[in-house]
Amino acid sequence: MPLTTEEITLDHGFPGTHRVVMVHRFGPATVDAGAPRPKAYIQAALHADEIPGLLVAQHLLARLKAADAEGRVRGDIVLVPYANPIGLSQAVLGTAIGRFALSSGVNFNRDFPDLAAPVADAVLGRLGPDAAANVALVRRAALAAIAAWETATEADSLRKILMGLAIDADLVLDLHCDSEALVHAYTGTESWPDAGDVMAELGCRAVFLALESGGNPFDEACSGLWWRLRNRLTAGLSGTVPPLPAACLATTIELRGRRDVDDALAAADADALVRVLTRRGLLAGDAGVLPAPACQATPLAGVDRVRAPAAGAVLYTVALGDTVTVGQTVAEVVDPVTGTRHPARARTPGIVWARAEQRYTAAGAIITSIAGDRPLAEEGSGLLTAR
Ligand SMILES: [Zn+2]
Repeated sequence: MPLTTEEITLDHGFPGTHRVVMVHRFGPATVDAGAPRPKAYIQAALHADEIPGLLVAQHLLARLKAADAEGRVRGDIVLVPYANPIGLSQAVLGTAIGRFALSSGVNFNRDFPDLAAPVADAVLGRLGPDAAANVALVRRAALAAIAAWETATEADSLRKILMGLAIDADLVLDLHCDSEALVHAYTGTESWPDAGDVMAELGCRAVFLALESGGNPFDEACSGLWWRLRNRLTAGLSGTVPPLPAACLATTIELRGRRDVDDALAAADADALVRVLTRRGLLAGDAGVLPAPACQATPLAGVDRVRAPAAGAVLYTVALGDTVTVGQTVAEVVDPVTGTRHPARARTPGIVWARAEQRYTAAGAIITSIAGDRPLAEEGSGLLTAR
């Protein structure tokens, strides 16, 4: 059984409502209590209508319970099996709406707080030559900064709860999915190649790197704290700079497409996560040989978001996993009035890793995504879709 299972209630809900985040914590209660040990934080479906992660979390929970019963838990493991109770309650005319808050239109995975400024204020002049002590100091300051955050909305209350659970972790895995997609992931440029084992175990077919995606999604709010803080503290400094490693590896893992909700896939993904936790010392056991990576990492800024040249019916001319060349037609959009077929073309060579599942599109909407290895856009310029 988990060490503890807790329900944390969201603030600022509508009258008569009561929403909770459930948190399972695993870890040795007494053995080496207080000694430094790795912490992993895993959450599913922050975008509440991205269902594959919900199923993976259940498979992972069963595996963690088994590991715990066998006394194999060595680190602190926090599992939030559904990260967004607000989104889970949203539907319009039979369709689940989990990416945006219906009441405000905000994306649940944007606008997490950037803690670099308050943490810098708290640790300024207190960092020393011991990197581990510096990391511990920063984590305490970050937890204090989150605790001091006075939220005003239910969505921010949720953000505060999730950040408070994750910000002191060594490893943060945020489980999402795309529309129709291969397994892929987003992580910080500074977290690469450290994240290579996570991506290899999951068989990621695309890995996107950025320091600033724009919008401060959950993973970047957790990991980016470290390089933003370091930049802030070292700006204008001369002489010896106190060591401050990027102590949180956070990644958004996209578990294929919305319809890829399947027990066999979820079990395999959970097995992969168990091997990640084992290899990183959170579970005792043999993680086996690390698989060869299924792709090279590419800049998030190199993603070609192919947009529909017109409104109409979408006929894809490429499949997920196809490699395309510049100028290649990836889809035709058929104008239902004139019958004209408008080609949508690739701007970059690379692998097709996502397509929109809807087969009717508005003009200008993103219908296909290609992983290019050369930047097409500026860092920090809204590299993620749909704020
Ligand atoms: Zn998502």
